[in-house]
Amino acid sequence: MGSSLYSVRMRATCQSKHLAGAERIVTAAAVSETTAALTSRAMSHVNGVADEVYCSVERIDPAIVRYEKLPDISTYQLDDWQKGRQLACCMLSRAGVKEDIAARAVQLLANGAGPEGSAMRGAVIMDPATGERLERDQSRGVRVSRMDLAPECRSELERELASVGLDHHRVLEALVLAGKVLSAPGVVAELCWSDNPDYTTGYVADLHGGYQRITALKPVGDSLGGRVFFIDPTAVAIDELIDYLECQPVLFDGLGDCRTIHEPAANPADWPRSQLLFGP
Ligand code: AMP
Repeated sequence: MGSSLYSVRMRATCQSKHLAGAERIVTAAAVSETTAALTSRAMSHVNGVADEVYCSVERIDPAIVRYEKLPDISTYQLDDWQKGRQLACCMLSRAGVKEDIAARAVQLLANGAGPEGSAMRGAVIMDPATGERLERDQSRGVRVSRMDLAPECRSELERELASVGLDHHRVLEALVLAGKVLSAPGVVAELCWSDNPDYTTGYVADLHGGYQRITALKPVGDSLGGRVFFIDPTAVAIDELIDYLECQPVLFDGLGDCRTIHEPAANPADWPRSQLLFGP
């Protein structure tokens, strides 16, 4: 990329509640069109009419940008969200999260990890061995920011996602976010599902399994969701991790594999041993 880079970030509210948010890292020449595109996204949001839209533009020193490869993508097709949550627990425990802690994290998101059972704006940070919450502010959580695709990678990824029917900006943006989380020090795994009541797909991401989408992690109509980052606190200082997640600019210049859709084995008892799910 050229010499000047800018982080362009948009967030919009409707009746004082979060409505939309998105961000890009672009060249100086693309700042105006990017600001317009993000603003237009806020102004035509399906979930409500924007009362306030904030756009910020901030110059980034290109010398500090880190370049990373995106994780592999796979999709596990399920209709039953309870089985989906069981599958997520299996994936998390395979990644190194203690089994009961994985179940506790799923329950935390299901109940609403924010104050009085609300959805948080950011993510929970959890110790994968003890379940202790390590984020400084349990109401806001940690917001991952300053990440994007390098331009040469964007169209390639869009083509690849379209070829498997996943050409929605939601998938692309969640993949980039998961990629940044996986590139952070001390990360064991991530669990996520959306707070959008109509969108039931979520994912477990880890270094070995990549970005593993699970098509049912909650019932339709449920407006709770969130993210949990499992972090080994012996591998990284939490302040250093948060600084990386929030501030370190990361651009993705390489794609992972886009694997086929899997139908998980019918019996959950087979999941941890199944070659289909946990093969090389
Ligand atoms: P979404 O996938 O956008 O529906 O977000 C699902 C949940 O993930 C939200 O309710 C937040 O708790 C969390 N979240 C969304 N964006 C971020 C972010 N940039 N960093 C950390 N957590 C986020």
